[in-house]
Amino acid sequence: MRVVIIGGGITGAFIAWELSKYDLDLILIEKNLDIGWGATKANSGILHAGYDDPPETLRAKLCARGNELHFKISQELEYDVKRKGSLVVAFNDEELKVLEELLKRGEKNNVPNLTILKGEEIFEKEPNLSREIKYALWAETAGIIEPWEATIAVTENAIQNGLSLILGERVTDFEVKNKRIIKVITNKNSYEVDLVINSAGLYGDEIAKKAGSEFVPIYPRRGEYILLDKKLGNIVNSIIFPTPTPKSKGILVVPTIDGGILLGPTAEDLPEDQKENNATSYRGLRKVIDETKKLVPSIDISYAIKTFAGLRAETPIKDFFIKESERLNNFINVIGIRSPGLTSAPAIGEYVVEEIIKEKLKINLTRKKDFKAKRKRIRRYSELSLEEWNEEIKKDPLCGNIICYCNMVTEREIVEAIRRGAKTLDGVKFRTRATFGRCQGNFCGSRILEILARELKKDISEIVLNSEDSWILNGRVRP
Ligand SMILES: Cc1cc2nc3c(=O)[nH]c(=O)nc-3n(C[C@H](O)[C@H](O)[C@H](O)COP(=O)(O)OP(=O)(O)OC[C@H]3O[C@@H](n4cnc5c(N)ncnc54)[C@H](O)[C@@H]3O)c2cc1C
Repeated sequence: MRVVIIGGGITGAFIAWELSKYDLDLILIEKNLDIGWGATKANSGILHAGYDDPPETLRAKLCARGNELHFKISQELEYDVKRKGSLVVAFNDEELKVLEELLKRGEKNNVPNLTILKGEEIFEKEPNLSREIKYALWAETAGIIEPWEATIAVTENAIQNGLSLILGERVTDFEVKNKRIIKVITNKNSYEVDLVINSAGLYGDEIAKKAGSEFVPIYPRRGEYILLDKKLGNIVNSIIFPTPTPKSKGILVVPTIDGGILLGPTAEDLPEDQKENNATSYRGLRKVIDETKKLVPSIDISYAIKTFAGLRAETPIKDFFIKESERLNNFINVIGIRSPGLTSAPAIGEYVVEEIIKEKLKINLTRKKDFKAKRKRIRRYSELSLEEWNEEIKKDPLCGNIICYCNMVTEREIVEAIRRGAKTLDGVKFRTRATFGRCQGNFCGSRILEILARELKKDISEIVLNSEDSWILNGRVRP
């Protein structure tokens, strides 16, 4: 049986991974040149505890479960997650009522270890918070993640277990016969198919419409961010939220996996036709600074190293839309996956397979006998002791050639990233963290281009940043 998954964000990746445990002909089609470059690459990177959504929603059901699963799966597949805990802070008694509501909701959603802290209890945890804060909801199980790293890890493991990953092909149409999709058509190929899963993010509504399935309309809600360098140090230990509004969780202060601090996001609704509009604005970034300084007054914005924006896949239904089609017999929508989609992704994969494919569609799946449960990440030499690192350099000099000094990434790691599928500068960045640091690639970018050109046997001018037309060099200045 052949299953085609459309969209290689964290949702499609976890569905593919869950399905790779079974004997199936599995194909994941992604329009970009790499996986995880939609909403998955630009967000707050939080593993939410699960108190935000009403208990009857799928979001509530899948968030707490996803949080738990990430901590388990990340050990087998070697991607980073850190339990940091989160504080939703309140400045007055009116906001305290919202915290009490969240606490009750969290308890109904089976979120463990939620407490409301008062006065000094808060500052013992977070000495740099504004002294005007009176109360805070502490959620011990909240954590942080690098979402692209998780996406790469599960996809690599799914590939070890037989997944065919098709990159750089956009699904454009379907061939339908007797209420069944028989072919998925892309701009380059067509694939015969028995079951189709639509996890195309912001474009999930358009894919469903093309197939002839029911759908929910999706519009982009933009969130702008400022990333502060790790040199600023631990100005917060946990994730700091303001009291949420009905529209969003607010503008946050979030520690990142590699020790930086992320400020944001804003929440701005854009028209349906602006699904690629991830520009930042003075107004948005000003708001990020003003709102986060209310939480942590000592934030020093001169440590900013990058600004960016992500686009949430918003729908009018205020829940994930994960459902088998009633108009087509072999089509499943997994769309409208806005926050907490990163957190929920492993639970979404599980839900799609257990509740929809097996329960609702009554498809019998046979477990693979030789499923490979472990995946090794690219070795990070700077995490070794100097003695161990020296031993490695004796065996392989590339381990001693540091290319990215901000994040101490060696040539060996970059070559390994290319061997595992990186074809672009961003492909190397998301696999190794090279160019992610303080200099944002100004020092190492050109050296990585040379390595990419050498390893891929291409002229250096052919190497792109991410998309096919994102050239970096356009010719020589000297003969
Ligand atoms: C500002 C912001 C902050 C957020 N913060 C958090 C957070 O802290 N914690 C949390 O849990 N969640 C958070 N989220 C939500 C989370 O980022 C998303 O739920 C998650 O990334 C959605 O993943 P996805 O795979 O469904 O979508 P995407 O990552 O967008 O993936 C969809 C993929 O489909 C591909 N595609 C589209 N059309 C086609 C086509 N025709 N053919 C082939 N491929 C196609 C796209 O290129 C894309 O790669 C946040 C989101 C945003 C935007």
